Amino acid sequence: EMAESALPTTPSPAQPPVAATRPTHQPSALDGAQPLPAQQQASVASANQSPITAAPTHGSTDPDTAEPPRFAWLLGTELRQRRWVSRTLISSAAYVLGLASLGFGTKVGLVAPVHAQLLAIALILTPLLMFAAVRSGLTRGLADPAITLVQILTATTWACALYATTSHAHGAQLTALVVVITIGVVNLKRRQAWMACLYAMAAMSGTIALMTHLQPQIYVPKVQFTHWVLLMVDLPVLMLMGIQLGKLHTRLRQQRVQLKEAVSRLHDLARHDDLTGLNNRNHMNDMLAHYKRRHEECGEPFSVALIDLDHFKRINDSHGHAVGDEVLKAFARQASDTLRQIDLIARWGGEEFLVLCPQTTPDQALIGLERLRLSFTKTMVSCTVPDLRASFSVGLTAPDHTDESIESTIARADAALYVAKHAGRNRTCVQSPVARATA
Ligand code: GH3
Ligand code: MG
Ligand code: MG
Repeated sequence: EMAESALPTTPSPAQPPVAATRPTHQPSALDGAQPLPAQQQASVASANQSPITAAPTHGSTDPDTAEPPRFAWLLGTELRQRRWVSRTLISSAAYVLGLASLGFGTKVGLVAPVHAQLLAIALILTPLLMFAAVRSGLTRGLADPAITLVQILTATTWACALYATTSHAHGAQLTALVVVITIGVVNLKRRQAWMACLYAMAAMSGTIALMTHLQPQIYVPKVQFTHWVLLMVDLPVLMLMGIQLGKLHTRLRQQRVQLKEAVSRLHDLARHDDLTGLNNRNHMNDMLAHYKRRHEECGEPFSVALIDLDHFKRINDSHGHAVGDEVLKAFARQASDTLRQIDLIARWGGEEFLVLCPQTTPDQALIGLERLRLSFTKTMVSCTVPDLRASFSVGLTAPDHTDESIESTIARADAALYVAKHAGRNRTCVQSPVARATA
């Protein structure tokens, strides 16, 4: 019944399927009749692309419909700039801390109102200016667009000023300095971190010396000496810890990149065949399901072809397994180059391949497959045995009706392949729904 409903097999060249002969031009009904337009010449990479991954993903990637990221009005939309702006905003926390202690100092009468007002203006303006510079993109061209070092040096200067103006509460300002250095050091490169550290040590040494000299009753020399010694020890220790943290941060980021690469490579390995680089059977099953669904939903046609190399065992037996592998690779290359860009090809089994032609009826698919079949018989398939030629047989079909399972469609392609093999190999047998209707 199958043989009856199948279309007559296509003409086959007279040469034996596996022949170590020079390539000869075999005239054929299809030979040269359907030159493929240039745009249909497939490339290996694109021919293997998954329709599933290639399908447009709505939402996140489409610039027109993508939702703006959160707090775009404050941080901006570009990822890197958002990071710089966030960093600047986080450093403002140190300024809030400074302002709070300044306000408290003034309230309890420790700080002279004139000093407090001047310093308050500085503590409000500085973070605003830093934010404006980074947010506006002014610093974009700099090596460090978050101007971390500038911010740290400025904040350190204000911490010293706080120390000098808060009278009996000056000891508390040491914590402000610690906060500044901690925030900055995590984000600074090693050399810059040491610069910030040395600046803080020098500035605090100067401030302590000056205040001990100016107001020895409040900035008591013995206490100041203790503060100074503590700072000279604490600041470098803080720096070293910050550098360690920075290193950890860098390593984590590198590892994340490596992990991403590994996952994408694994993903690739999971979908492709090692030997030929074609899609593997698993991946093809996904693609078949995808096109079967489209066929079901909107009646979009597709064709399925099973390809089996002819007398492949003979090649293995007479030339060795390695030459057999070369032939498989040659077929994969040829198929990827010859079939259309939209056609999808997978290694289905040992020397069996499945071609899925989306949006294509078997009549249309036949053109490309015949083109491939005829060119393949003339192709050099092994560098080791340059005279070796190979051929394949094809069973081609399409879904019978929209409800037909993909397994049943493939079974029909397999049956057509069987017919092609028994009709003498190196030919294509089409088992199209149209043929059944008219048979
Ligand atoms: P037919 O024309 O009827 O298809 O004959 P055939 O010899 O091609 O068919 P058969 O199924 O008997 O043999 C297929 C051979 O393919 C057997 C197997 O050893 C070989 N084979 C399967 N996978 C590989 C592979 O990865 N590399 C190599 N070199 N040979 C393989
Ligand atoms: Mg086989
Ligand atoms: Mg075979």
